Amino acid sequence: MDINSDLKYMAMSLGLHAIGWAPAEAYRGAPEGHRPQDILPEAKSVATFAYRLNNGALDNLPAARNQYMLEFAAANQILSQAAHKIARLLESRGFISVGIGPEADIGDYSRLKGDFSHKHSAVICGLGSFGINNLLLVDRAGARVRLASVITCAELKPGDNTAADYCTRCGECVSRCPSGALEEWEGKYSPQTGWVINKEKCAHYMFVASAGKRCGLCVAACPAGRREAGSGK
Ligand code: SF4
Ligand code: SF4
Repeated sequence: MDINSDLKYMAMSLGLHAIGWAPAEAYRGAPEGHRPQDILPEAKSVATFAYRLNNGALDNLPAARNQYMLEFAAANQILSQAAHKIARLLESRGFISVGIGPEADIGDYSRLKGDFSHKHSAVICGLGSFGINNLLLVDRAGARVRLASVITCAELKPGDNTAADYCTRCGECVSRCPSGALEEWEGKYSPQTGWVINKEKCAHYMFVASAGKRCGLCVAACPAGRREAGSGK
């Protein structure tokens, strides 16, 4: 099997929802310090992958917020392991690789930004597009996914990386947001690049008003993920 087929097989074995990859050159528009080559100078490709959250806790927010926190942590653990194992697979083939876990996008309180944007990478890799909630929406799961990536020296052959637009602009995420962080999106949002939400309002709600508990309401609100809830997928 070639390396691309091996990656797809490993993603399936790890229970990932989706995986895609793109040449490191495709990230030249990313801000300086946040490009693949800023982390691994010899980078040739990036693989980004998604793991789907279960529906139960999300569908019962905010009452099930503690359970959502556990769900969130479990998904992050699985993705950290997946990033490690995918990097190990690539290194076993002779390609130095760096796994970037899902917590990288949390960063610090004021920025809510990490060293590498999994969401922007997921668009470049063809996994999906941004919603007005500024989350990545993917096929069959909407925003109900967590993401991680591997930067590698392997030259992975990209497929068709055209990302579909799964956001219907229904505005449900905006109305359900308790902090008002998603208001004023019009004229600023794009499915390819997202937009800069009011991070201070969002962070204040999570880290001060909710005493550090994850919110999840803009994930739960999005019908793009709820469509699959009763389908058994
Ligand atoms: S996480 Fe909560 S507070 Fe932040 S944007 Fe989403 S719904 Fe609003
Ligand atoms: S809730 Fe509606 S507007 Fe918000 S991201 Fe989902 S589809 Fe887009």
